[in-house]
Amino acid sequence: MSAPHRLLTGRVVIATHNPGKLREMRELLAPYGIDAVSAGELGLPEPEETGASFHANALIKAQAAANATNLPAFADDSGLAVDALAGAPGIYSARWAGDDKNFARAMETIETKLRALGAERPAQRQAQFVSALCVAWPDGHLEKFEGTVAGTLVWPPRGSAGFGYDPMFLPDGHDRTFGEMSADEKHGLPPRGPGLSHRARAFLKLAAACLRP
Ligand code: IMP
Repeated sequence: MSAPHRLLTGRVVIATHNPGKLREMRELLAPYGIDAVSAGELGLPEPEETGASFHANALIKAQAAANATNLPAFADDSGLAVDALAGAPGIYSARWAGDDKNFARAMETIETKLRALGAERPAQRQAQFVSALCVAWPDGHLEKFEGTVAGTLVWPPRGSAGFGYDPMFLPDGHDRTFGEMSADEKHGLPPRGPGLSHRARAFLKLAAACLRP
């Protein structure tokens, strides 16, 4: 029998230094009365993401923040896994943008690699966004959840909403990229939105297990 889930209440650290992810996580946590403070706002150092999987890296970030603050900490590790590139950039999604976080260049890198493989038809350009969520408590208790959303990579990129690889990601069943969608369309939870993004899907699992409205 698996261990019971633990409820997440009160003050929680969001273990991210990424402003795009912080905004989305705050919006997701807002209806649950969580007092969310970010690792960036607390001046916590960014731990090195040395894990070999999304879950391992989410765990590193959540545990580092929980240990540094003595508060429960919530972390996401996420990225884009391109089928034709054997899952790359995957856990290296942020690194492909370089130190200056240039995602126009990171998207061009993907496009260049897809073209080199002759991947022009939508069926050859399938990808998934993956989000691994981890909550770590200072006493060592852990909760882990994962969400994915499948789509097709388009070129040229479309739209300026969202962040990262959003402008080239066309989620299955939609005719606009994440970069062309409003925040509610991309990651709003019912009734505000469909809970479409990988982070929203992982978050819905976490909410069902650990949050009470
Ligand atoms: P992390 O901070 O190591 O989890 O980096 C995740 C990286 O994956 C981000 O910097 C983005 O490049 C990419 N990524 C993750 N989620 C999204 C998303 O919702 N839209 C666009 N890019 C994303």
